Amino acid sequence: MNAEIIAVGTELLLGQIVNSNAQFLSNHLAEIGVDVFRHTAVGDNADRLLQVIKEAEKRADLLIFTGGLGPTKDDLTKETIANHVKKQLIYDEEALESIQIFFEKTKLKMTENNKKQALVMEDSTVLPNRNGMAPGMFLKTETNSYMLLPGPPKEMQPMFLSFGKPLLMQLIGQVEKIESKVLRFFGIGESQLETDLEDLILLQNNPTIAPLAGDGEVTIRITAKNSPNAKAEDLIQRVEEKIMERVGSYFYGYDQSSIMEEMVKLLKEQKKTIACAESLTGGLFQSELTSFSGTSEIFKGGIVCYSNKVKEQILGVANETLHTFGAVSEQCAKELAENVMTQFGTDYGISFTGVAGPDSLEGKKPGTVWIGLAEKGSETKAFLLQLVGSRNGIRKRTVKYGCHYVLQ
Ligand code: ATP
Ligand code: MG
Repeated sequence: MNAEIIAVGTELLLGQIVNSNAQFLSNHLAEIGVDVFRHTAVGDNADRLLQVIKEAEKRADLLIFTGGLGPTKDDLTKETIANHVKKQLIYDEEALESIQIFFEKTKLKMTENNKKQALVMEDSTVLPNRNGMAPGMFLKTETNSYMLLPGPPKEMQPMFLSFGKPLLMQLIGQVEKIESKVLRFFGIGESQLETDLEDLILLQNNPTIAPLAGDGEVTIRITAKNSPNAKAEDLIQRVEEKIMERVGSYFYGYDQSSIMEEMVKLLKEQKKTIACAESLTGGLFQSELTSFSGTSEIFKGGIVCYSNKVKEQILGVANETLHTFGAVSEQCAKELAENVMTQFGTDYGISFTGVAGPDSLEGKKPGTVWIGLAEKGSETKAFLLQLVGSRNGIRKRTVKYGCHYVLQ
């Protein structure tokens, strides 16, 4: 089955809103194996909408519309389609009732045009609207199928997920389901990863392997369809194993996870605690760490030690260290990590010190970063990074590297 998504709304053409409905729907349609061939945006104009419908009908089995189901004059999607497919509009009892209940509850006066929202095409399957008043519809004719969804994403999305998508899945029962899985890597560049996996990427069409880089990380999306010989999950599993053999040491998590989330998970599993001393990152590590619930189990606290005075007087870095090697040095990073661990009585201590730029510091160029990592009972380590990018880019990536080293 193939589909086209038609978003109705003049505000889309004026650039007032982004067509996020098309993105949402495309994403979910791909998941169930419906190929989307086109996105169209058209204004609230019956003639132009009709023209779009006629063109799309020639190309696609399924036409999905969003927007224009509301009560106002410019909402004309339903009327235009009904007219075109020669279906009467009839009142849907359930929708009418929920509109009446809404007006009773809010004590607002229900005007006649509000009733209009309960009109649905005869012979269509009504898709209830649990978050608004206008119901959606699905109609199948001999030649095409039509799905009408409301414009507001908070109404459209739950309606599609609860009613639209299951209905389509039923309809295409035979179609192969697409499975996909995202593998997340840190500490390896996209080009290196592509080079390491080049033959796999080129060879595959089921599954396909798609690398994507961003924010200092690389992800690989593996997508597979059921084949006559193997299930999609198994095909993905086999490729995943091959990928892991080659670049597994950079892998940290699946799908929507983040490297910080994985670090939190690991520390919870190990029942270990951490404290941090942040110079370069100015609290970014702690801020991100505490965005996860239940962090108190593993995080004791931290100190933002931006000035050398704080590094020395509060965190006990030796004056000699600061004078001889500077604040951005292996020695300083190690002392910060060790001392913060001791002061907070934790299992790990981590420190961040570096040059965010744009100017050099202590004769070290922007992007020079030292991360110290102390662990109770082990020798303290320090890692040198030479990052490029903006101040904030460097700081954010430094935080990720911190998590990466804890995970290793
Ligand atoms: P309502 O009952 O709210 O009028 P409707 O089904 O008639 O709903 P529209 O009037 O077309 O929908 O759009 C209502 C609002 O929904 C828009 O102002 C916009 O905020 C949002 N919206 C509409 N279409 C889209 C779209 N394609 N992508 C994202 N948001 C959209
Ligand atoms: Mg409207």
